[in-house]
Amino acid sequence: MIEKIVIANRGEIALRILRACRELGIKTVAVHSEADRDLKHVRLADESVCIGPAPSADSYLQIPSIISAAEVTDAVGIHPGYGFLSENADFAERVEESGFTFIGPKSDTIRLMGDKITAIEAMKAAGVPCVPGSDGPLDEDNERTIKLAREIGYPVIVKAAGGGGGRGMRVVNSEAALLNAISLTKAEAGAAFGNDTVYMEKFLENPRHVEFQVLADTHGNAIHLGERDCSMQRRHQKVVEEAPAPGITEELRSKIGERCAEACRQIGYRGAGTFEFLYENGEFYFIEMNTRVQVEHPVTEMITGVDIVKEQLRIASGMELSYKQEDIEIRGHAIECRINAEDPTNFMPSPGDIKHLHIPGGPGIRVDTHIYSGYRVPPHYDSMIGKLVAHGETRDAALARMRTALSEAIIDGIKTNIPLHQQIMKDAAFIAGGANIHYLEKMLGI
Ligand code: ADP
Repeated sequence: MIEKIVIANRGEIALRILRACRELGIKTVAVHSEADRDLKHVRLADESVCIGPAPSADSYLQIPSIISAAEVTDAVGIHPGYGFLSENADFAERVEESGFTFIGPKSDTIRLMGDKITAIEAMKAAGVPCVPGSDGPLDEDNERTIKLAREIGYPVIVKAAGGGGGRGMRVVNSEAALLNAISLTKAEAGAAFGNDTVYMEKFLENPRHVEFQVLADTHGNAIHLGERDCSMQRRHQKVVEEAPAPGITEELRSKIGERCAEACRQIGYRGAGTFEFLYENGEFYFIEMNTRVQVEHPVTEMITGVDIVKEQLRIASGMELSYKQEDIEIRGHAIECRINAEDPTNFMPSPGDIKHLHIPGGPGIRVDTHIYSGYRVPPHYDSMIGKLVAHGETRDAALARMRTALSEAIIDGIKTNIPLHQQIMKDAAFIAGGANIHYLEKMLGI
């Protein structure tokens, strides 16, 4: 087992990684900004290194500082968590060139999947179903582009190959608007991502977001852990996730999951990863792969019993996966609410001092959070302060546990979106299951 790692992240995921390391006997180095000295994992880590001032650009995104921290502490590996540098191929490359283990895929794989066009090509080659589209970049040949769009059928969506975070795409409803939309998206993509390559695909009007979790080791083994439904979104940000996805049959789960696992074998994938799909009228359409651990990984852990972060650490240590596909059994249902420090009515961030904290518990409840009484939520980072996860034998049982847990939670001193989650958990369409990606915004009247 790898001996010592740097946790190149903050907040709940840094604590999650630290806990997995402790269970496995791996020593930890916390790297943190000046604003994050009081983070729980910084206090619990074997060592800690301050890597710069509060703004992420000067700390958590500073590649040389993170690598220096690994050097001075004699760490062997670096776990990037999610967000920050986790999907930065240059970072992964620098880590490996400096002689450390990057706890994630090879930098080439991150690069391949970071470009949506090459990602789609690789997925198609592996038999993963994709959205009907231009199969490659749009070129200067406008006649060809117009013809392509007609064949795909309107509405279409023009997307930047290098896009991310829900930016760099534009829906086009008619031929009259097509060429203008392409040049606008190209210009924006060039400015935002330094790559003005765009492609086009069918715009699915009312899909659900359903994603598959995979694990792959360096011995050619790859498995899937089933799917999660993350359709409850606001501004492309996931708010509630659950596993399994309502209404997906075991047969369909195995079919798509096995395609994802096979794609991992074909591209030589290493570590944990997620294949994101849009799901509409019983069909799956691949949109992108996330080459890291996801915020919502706990719902999969709750229904499979697999510790995804421990598997990441084992894989990075060169060990074989602890499970074969036939060992993976789905038990019950899990739901996750992302708890944000924000005003539940206008979604404005609400940083500040947590004066009093009561974390809910009871059977089937898991809370992943770094906050504690007296902790000050800094204004510099993402507003997510924790995740409340409920597991039950059935979806209804999980929902009932979630409602109880939400009613018990007390986070005094700051505003949180707990009232929003309470509203969602008693919403008839959410309770029915299978709402699409537009539902939450519709429910909120925005
Ligand atoms: P990003 O990397 O920016 O997150 P994605 O390709 O994952 O981009 O797409 C983000 C979101 O945009 C999706 O979750 C979905 O809501 C919407 N979207 C993307 N492609 C399509 C499509 N072909 N049809 C309908 N919606 C789409």
